[in-house]
Amino acid sequence: MDHRHEHLYIGGAWVRPATDRLITPVNPSTEEPLGSVPEAVEADVDAAVRAAREAFDAPGGWAAWEPGRRADVMERFAAELDARAESIASAVSSQNGMPIGTARQLEAGYPSAVLRYYASLTRTMEFTETRPGLLGGQVEVRRVPVGVVAAIVPWNYPQVLSTFKIAPAMAAGCTVVLKPSPEAVLDSFVVAEAAEAAGVPAGVLNIVPGGRDAGAHLVSHPGVDKVAFTGSTPAGRAIGEVCGRLLRPVTLELGGKSAGIVLDDAVLDPTVIGEDLVRATFTNNGQTCFLSTRILAPRSRYTEVVDLVTGLARSLPVGDALDERTLIGPLVTSGQRDRVEGYIAKGRAEGARLTTGGGRPAGLDRGWFVEPTVFADVDNASVLAQEEVFGPVLCVLPYDDVDDAVRIANDSDYGLGGTVWTADPERGAAVARRVRTGTIGVNRYLPDPVGPFGGMKASGLGRELGPDGLHGYLQAQSLYL
Ligand code: NAD
Repeated sequence: MDHRHEHLYIGGAWVRPATDRLITPVNPSTEEPLGSVPEAVEADVDAAVRAAREAFDAPGGWAAWEPGRRADVMERFAAELDARAESIASAVSSQNGMPIGTARQLEAGYPSAVLRYYASLTRTMEFTETRPGLLGGQVEVRRVPVGVVAAIVPWNYPQVLSTFKIAPAMAAGCTVVLKPSPEAVLDSFVVAEAAEAAGVPAGVLNIVPGGRDAGAHLVSHPGVDKVAFTGSTPAGRAIGEVCGRLLRPVTLELGGKSAGIVLDDAVLDPTVIGEDLVRATFTNNGQTCFLSTRILAPRSRYTEVVDLVTGLARSLPVGDALDERTLIGPLVTSGQRDRVEGYIAKGRAEGARLTTGGGRPAGLDRGWFVEPTVFADVDNASVLAQEEVFGPVLCVLPYDDVDDAVRIANDSDYGLGGTVWTADPERGAAVARRVRTGTIGVNRYLPDPVGPFGGMKASGLGRELGPDGLHGYLQAQSLYL
């Protein structure tokens, strides 16, 4: 696949970039370059913010449209994305190593569903209500769009994470400047084509593929009213500090190190639990923020759980992300593989017991692959249990009783996701309610568009998805009448 784009999508048109700098994404399965696109620099970011600002401020423009009219555009946008589903899935998979089946289901399937969900919410939501005043007269409470949104996303789910921001922002009447990560940019050009074909008004969505410098310039740009960021916790802290200084609203979706609590009644049969457990722990080669990468097992069944997880890890086909049979593709870059291998070495040095994996898979001499890896007897205070590895590496830790399991699950700087595995879903839900994370699943895990998604503690600030996600792009104005 060879992609070449020479222009940037800004202000509803394909415009010449300010410089001739290029981004050349590389296929992590083959180490081959995938073509090139312009790299947006500060001047391009300025042009994109100007276009978004003009579209937002225009009298009678997007922000002032009837919500149903915006919803019509969003539904057309969703249909245009669906029409490009295969090209989006293959662009994502070939850039970040996501197995193609996962890319079809999540990256190509989920964004249009999120757009339609917010389109339907905006049709039914009361943006204005009138309350009888306690002091006489009336108070009209209006929910008005927050303004120009800077949306900054990482490479691991470029489409899903962009739509978590674009869809509620559009529904609220905001305009958006989206900055994709340089490792996964090609798919953003397909999105721009879809927006153009759907008749998204000029300036409502602008796309500036670029690196950290472009991102930092966007975050502190005087024309921006809100920042919505997904990425690492260190970058989130840096962005949060800038937004604090500027008193600029910010949503931060950051890292995680979630627990999968296996209760003593769980059916530890791979044919019963295997598929859901693999999905909750290994999706996208471990490059997923919410994965349950600390498996907590009752001492009474510890060996059984270690054997189950080890067997599942060994059974996963590793290979080229575009091969339909692949369940574990490569890591996104050689640097990311170095990082993951560093954590594996650290786990060994800390005395954890490697039960499978730990090396590079045989027979794959190109591509940044790491074997699915499981460590047993991991201490929750260790680096391996506390830090986000962002690769196919799990730890299994023993616990004494349910109180101990909940204590270990909560003994983390992070608070993003998690799972509970049990034959009794009500018992599972009772345990899940005691875990301090923004989301948690019982016997499965998949963020549903109707439920707010986000983290507690170092996993972030604010929520995306659900009606809460829409409220993040609105602010209240009270009129005393
Ligand atoms: P990253 O933080 O390095 O980069 C993410 C994005 O932010 C990129 O577009 C990057 O160019 C930009 N960026 C980096 N520093 C910036 C700065 N100071 N100012 C403005 N923009 C900046 O993260 P990454 O390595 O690309 O992604 C992996 C991380 O993302 C993992 O830690 C993972 O847990 C996290 N993540 C979180 C969620 C979630 O919803 N909580 C979802 C997916 C990924």
